[in-house]
Amino acid sequence: MLFTDLKLSEPILKAISDQGYTAPSPVQAQAIPYILEGRDMLAGAQTGTGKTAGFTLPMLEILSRKTHNIKAPRQVRALILTPTRELAAQVGESVKLYGKYLKFKSAIIFGGVGMQPQVAALRQGVDIVIATPGRLLDHMSQGTIDLRHVEILILDEADRMLDMGFIKDIRRVISVLPQKRQNLLFSATYSDDIKGLCESILRNPAIVEVARRNTSSELVTQRVILVDCARKSALFGHLAVEKNWKQVLVFTRTKHQANKLSDYLQKIGVSATAIHGNKSQAARTKALADFKAGSVRILVATDIAARGLDIDQLPHVVNLELPNIAEDYVHRIGRTGRAGNEGEAISLVCVDEYDYLKSIERLIGKKFDREIVAGFEPDPAIIAMPILQGRGLSQGNHSPSGKPQGQKRERGTRQQDGGRNHNTKGDTGRNGRSNKQRKEGNRKSY
Ligand code: AMP
Repeated sequence: MLFTDLKLSEPILKAISDQGYTAPSPVQAQAIPYILEGRDMLAGAQTGTGKTAGFTLPMLEILSRKTHNIKAPRQVRALILTPTRELAAQVGESVKLYGKYLKFKSAIIFGGVGMQPQVAALRQGVDIVIATPGRLLDHMSQGTIDLRHVEILILDEADRMLDMGFIKDIRRVISVLPQKRQNLLFSATYSDDIKGLCESILRNPAIVEVARRNTSSELVTQRVILVDCARKSALFGHLAVEKNWKQVLVFTRTKHQANKLSDYLQKIGVSATAIHGNKSQAARTKALADFKAGSVRILVATDIAARGLDIDQLPHVVNLELPNIAEDYVHRIGRTGRAGNEGEAISLVCVDEYDYLKSIERLIGKKFDREIVAGFEPDPAIIAMPILQGRGLSQGNHSPSGKPQGQKRERGTRQQDGGRNHNTKGDTGRNGRSNKQRKEGNRKSY
């Protein structure tokens, strides 16, 4: 299929061709025709699938089909809600990029920055608003935004918005929108909460589902390196220096750990910066800009800050700590191997995280080889722990000292387990909790 088969008009096709896209991605090919028919839509697609263009292109097309009376003031006709400021900024850029040959005005509305520039932009009149829910509500309560003419509502990464506790805010926003409008909801997962939201806002939705990109994508090489918890930062620093990594996004579970790793790397002379919820918006924007520009080699991030980030040709993602929700692993590694480029995702795993690793392997239906980096071998006592037996680590691969004797994989790394001991049945991990239970039990502090 070609973009020209999708009934998009010339200015939009030209903007697409400027981007060098040759064909629509699966989510675009499926979603765009439904959206252009005016249907509500529920789309199961995550970052990296091309979903942003999947809703932005038809949104622009629909808006451009109604001619605007240039004398009439502009009204907000499309509203896109996103969970994070970075995603709002990124979607806002896409709207500008794909709409560069159209005459729409858009505004990006998020917290952590001054209200006044946003108020000024809104006062001048905009057609499209891309917003995070909290700041949008501030504008609503101050009467600085009028949403009574919204024709299209798009909820991007709806599951994450619910995870972050935005459901009430979303409902308050929806309560001021016109009854007659088109609703598009994008979500990577279908929890009961998402189903409830869909039932209450979507009318006879078209359903579009694209494969989780990690399960089908051959573009991301995924690796697991075993290491003691206390030596993870040192191992990361070692790999960054030895492999001369130029651009790596590293995930930690906590803000504290993100700061700690960033400080450590700077101390050993590797340029690094951290991005997480405790940083001011200005610091977050700068960190991301420096990283994208290549002036900082390592960006250390918590899940929330990195959600939805699209960094061109990002070659490496490292999990300093595994996420405690398996789906987040999918999102994290989705930062690399994008838009046809190859990528590498490395997870540094210590014994405390073994259940998380099992959950991830179960989710994506793949068993990873366990590797060990010379000089960073885990404590032999841990390797010998009964808890690891039959859980992927094979005793047979270890020397009497407890050190693995696996086949050489690449310089300085050794491979364990060679794919044996694969328990593909849905066990629930060491503590007997399913991934869902774990998800409910471990609300995150980013
Ligand atoms: P997204 O899933 O929206 O975050 O998009 C992921 C990446 O894919 C972005 O860098 C887009 O610029 C790129 N992209 C979107 N659509 C296409 C396409 N049809 N062909 C090639 N790259 C695309």
